[in-house]
Amino acid sequence: MKIAVVGTGYVGLVAGVCFADVGHHVICVDRDEKKIAMLREGRVPIYEPGLEDLMVTARGRIEFSTDLAAAVRACDVVFVAVGTPEMPDGSADMGPTLAVVDAIVASAGSSRKFIVLKSTVPVGTAAFMRQRLAGTPHEIVSNPEFLKEGAAIDDFLRPDRVVIGCATAEAQAIMGELYEPFVKNGHPILFMDNASAEMTKYAANAFLSVKISFINELALLADRLGADINAVRKGFTSDSRINPAFFYPGVGFGGSCFPKDVKALVHTGRSVGVAMDVVQAADEVNDRQKLVLFDRMVEHFGDVRGKTIAIWGLAFKPRTDDVREAPALYLIEKLVASGARVLAYDPVAHETARAASSVPFEITSTAMAACAGADALAIVTEWNEFRTPDLGQLRVALKTPVIFDGRNVLDPVKTVRAGFTYYCIGRNSVARGLA
Ligand code: NAD
Repeated sequence: MKIAVVGTGYVGLVAGVCFADVGHHVICVDRDEKKIAMLREGRVPIYEPGLEDLMVTARGRIEFSTDLAAAVRACDVVFVAVGTPEMPDGSADMGPTLAVVDAIVASAGSSRKFIVLKSTVPVGTAAFMRQRLAGTPHEIVSNPEFLKEGAAIDDFLRPDRVVIGCATAEAQAIMGELYEPFVKNGHPILFMDNASAEMTKYAANAFLSVKISFINELALLADRLGADINAVRKGFTSDSRINPAFFYPGVGFGGSCFPKDVKALVHTGRSVGVAMDVVQAADEVNDRQKLVLFDRMVEHFGDVRGKTIAIWGLAFKPRTDDVREAPALYLIEKLVASGARVLAYDPVAHETARAASSVPFEITSTAMAACAGADALAIVTEWNEFRTPDLGQLRVALKTPVIFDGRNVLDPVKTVRAGFTYYCIGRNSVARGLA
């Protein structure tokens, strides 16, 4: 099948490349000329493991263009994967999506197009579009995306499920054919109405956010009461009704999805008179959690003014260069505003972090270099290379042996035995030899 994908960001590019990988012909469109020029040269503008290799495999079935009109004329199915960022009132900014849908309609003439909304859009968007498109032959399909950055290729090629919201058997047949190669593993394509498909995406992200904030809050309590959150987690998730996956305490969730999607869901609820109190609480708890390491530093040092803090990890999670809403940037901002100096290291996210940060900080080329002469180390992203540092070398590098482990990647007992003052999340009693 020949399809167009508009927006070559983390979602659109992965989707386009994966569709091409299974044999479809894909035109990836973006208005960013620099990005398209890079892609045409075979270079990938984002860090996503496996993406560059797959682009090579898909060569011949994928093209990159800034010409939306030509892509629309050439394809009957057009995916829209542009950003839906947060507005000041918490709602999703639908400007880019609306602009693209209007441009598709303007270019399509009288030929029938299936316009597939892959962006995360508020519940009711498809219904609104359908009204806007009344009198045209086009059909609006909702196909929210569930991939995780850092594992995006695998998630797209082998999805847990594909969700399709549509109103006709024709759309159902086309989408079924498109996705059939991805569900050989027996996982389902779930067909439903558009509003339910749109809501499914928000439900998933909101629920995952609630899980994270719930365990983060419990971890703070565990620290205060002398319990070990790891033991507690194992204990309560052994209940067959409670899935242990994605249930680890840390420094809060970030990224381009959870923070804005929980806010958008709260906004949607408010607009129809339904209070989304649980989701709102998850968001508020997360705002506090992003600064939990800063609070610990202030407790430890009294004042961080004049201190040098090494930060390991800038990306909002490992295996991506995405720093949107990254907890590390919140921490750095707070430290710098409080008079601290920051030396940071991330295996891939240095450039994106520098571009996104509103405050100056230094970036080093190795993890150990960030620690040279620092008063403390804070681990903010759980990249694999941070899991087994040479503690002897680290002890020598740091001016004072203090570690704030925001992802619980180090062994509390070993770290304390190696001579460090060690703070972690919900496991401080283990570090103090109490649990
Ligand atoms: P992104 O910011 O990485 O990419 C968006 C792309 O759209 C950019 O390349 C931009 O240049 C392009 N664009 C914007 N307006 C355009 C226009 N008028 N014409 C052509 N191109 C245009 O965004 P993303 O992270 O890929 O997210 C896209 C959507 O997918 C969002 O709604 C997001 O919530 C959702 N989503 C994201 C993820 C994720 O992990 N990033 C996962 C699932 C769903």
